[in-house]
Amino acid sequence: MEIERIVQSQRDFFKTQQTKSIAFRKMYLEKLRNLIIDHENTLYEAIHKDFGKSKFDTLTTELSFVLHDIDYYIKNLKSLSKPRKVSTNLVNLPGKSRIYPEPLGCTLVIGAWNYPYQLSLSPLIAAIAAGNCCILKPSEIAGNTMKAMSELINNNFPSDYIYVYEGGIDETTEILKLRFDKIFFTGSTKVGKIVYKAAAEHLTPVVLELGGKSPAIVTKDANLEVAARRIVWGKFLNAGQTCVAPDYLLIEETIQEQFLEMLRKYIQEFKYYEGSEQYTRIINKKNFQRLEQLIEKEKIYFGGNINEEKLYIEPTILHHVDWQDSIMQEEIFGPILPVISFNNYNLAINTVLEHEKPLAAYLFTNNSEEKEVFTRKLSFGGGCINDTIMHLGNENLPFGGVGHSGMGSYHGQYGFEAFSHLKPILEKATWGEPSIKYPPYSEKKLSWIKKLM
Ligand code: NAD
Repeated sequence: MEIERIVQSQRDFFKTQQTKSIAFRKMYLEKLRNLIIDHENTLYEAIHKDFGKSKFDTLTTELSFVLHDIDYYIKNLKSLSKPRKVSTNLVNLPGKSRIYPEPLGCTLVIGAWNYPYQLSLSPLIAAIAAGNCCILKPSEIAGNTMKAMSELINNNFPSDYIYVYEGGIDETTEILKLRFDKIFFTGSTKVGKIVYKAAAEHLTPVVLELGGKSPAIVTKDANLEVAARRIVWGKFLNAGQTCVAPDYLLIEETIQEQFLEMLRKYIQEFKYYEGSEQYTRIINKKNFQRLEQLIEKEKIYFGGNINEEKLYIEPTILHHVDWQDSIMQEEIFGPILPVISFNNYNLAINTVLEHEKPLAAYLFTNNSEEKEVFTRKLSFGGGCINDTIMHLGNENLPFGGVGHSGMGSYHGQYGFEAFSHLKPILEKATWGEPSIKYPPYSEKKLSWIKKLM
């Protein structure tokens, strides 16, 4: 199998130690940067063909994100890679303790289709920065972007260092049989389990970036205008096909009517309608039909118009929803926002707690007690107070899930560490050797040890 040969060639290349040089890593990060800039228009065209994503959204949520990652690592590579001094405890004195970040070897990145550039290239960039070889398998569902990335990289990088492997389920099943030193997977919880099982065969460590049902909670103490604008943006960006989009809205009963009107206003103001350049289409028929089934006509508060030929689903708000409805049973991953109202904030928080830990959670309030309960009581991958999605834009915050929304994290330093082994070394002086730890043991030595410990 050709891919088996390429993985073996990456193993052989890694053994030459060349990827460990900071200059080598920087050279290829810069190369990737220039390639992205030089082929910007090709990348825009490919994603537009895949699901009509606008140039503006592609720049802000994909390319500028990836370019920023490259710049971050180029700037910080030296300090991230250098041995980290830590203090040495009494029993190990005289001595020095250091942690050496080292690359893992030959790594595999499997991407999802919804932010095809960001979710494929961002982990790849972290793998390069940490000094690894890497096979990137983007999602075949966004076939044009997969092709664009494979041409960009395979024509310009040596395959025994970095290689883009094109393929769908069959090819991914095959490649997962091979041994890697790390697998970084972004996608659904269902496929995450398949990847985790395959990795276990080789004891390969994994990062699993999965999904889930992420709540947005709005209380009467929120700045409602700000909350409405930020929720509409976070929910309907990319037509709701965002892993950290608010999946559903939990709203205090007394403000529900007023707030839903504000949501309607912002959907219209943002020009999210059929044929609008601002609004992305659904990726394919399969997802379109899945989403169509979730729109319960009698619960529509706003929207509900669809066009299968154009893969268009209007931003849709459903009210009078309860936890038993089919829309509340799975991650929506589309432009439908179910609304559940509450009278008691603490009970609302408890209902979220009864479900799987989500990838994200958002609270809109200016009440410090409510903020405290949200932060301390709920477990979720990451989130915001008084915003949606923007926590991903701060490279100092780790991004990843917990429980069924994933394991491990990346971005900034965390991405570097996801692709590194932190190797601790204790270097002892050869003088000042106390005989107390060596046999033959005695009562006297024991009483000294007790005191020391
Ligand atoms: P998916 O799990 O269907 O596919 C992801 C990748 O796995 C693709 O590259 C695909 O080729 C491969 N794959 C699919 N089925 C496979 C199988 N049976 N065996 C081996 N490989 C297989 O996910 P998707 O539809 O691309 O993305 C949507 C999901 O991803 C949502 O659940 C979303 O929340 C999640 N997601 C998470 C993040 C994150 O950062 N946590 C980001 C984006 C999307």
